[in-house]
Order: sequence, then structure tokens, then C-alpha cells
Amino acid sequence: MSDRCDSCGDDGDDLLTVQRIYLEFDESNQPVGERLADEFETWCIVCRLTYPHQEVQAEA
Ligand SMILES: [Zn+2]
Repeated sequence: MSDRCDSCGDDGDDLLTVQRIYLEFDESNQPVGERLADEFETWCIVCRLTYPHQEVQAEA
């Protein structure tokens, strides 16, 4: 896990590991589904409030 947000570059102590969610649209721009990114990213609270994502749970 990095100590900076991979999305906006902010540092801070409120970073979490997430997987970005890509929304998919059809040719008339209607949302038809969503797809989980392949890679993990580290995001700050602002980016987590702004962009769709799924939090990665630490393995027990
Ligand atoms: Zn950020």
C-alpha cells in the first residue's frame, strides 16, 4: 500500500486500498453494468467519496 492517493496524489492518514469500478454504457449512453478494475489502488477519502469503487478487505 502506498502512502499517497493513486488517484489525486494527496498524502494523508485516511488512505484505503480499493478497486475502481468502471461503469459501462451502451451506445445510447445508458448505464448497462459495471466492471471491477484488475488492480488495487490506494485512495484518499475525497476520491472515495467522488468515484465508484469497492473497498478491498484485508485478508484475515
Ligand atoms: Zn485522492
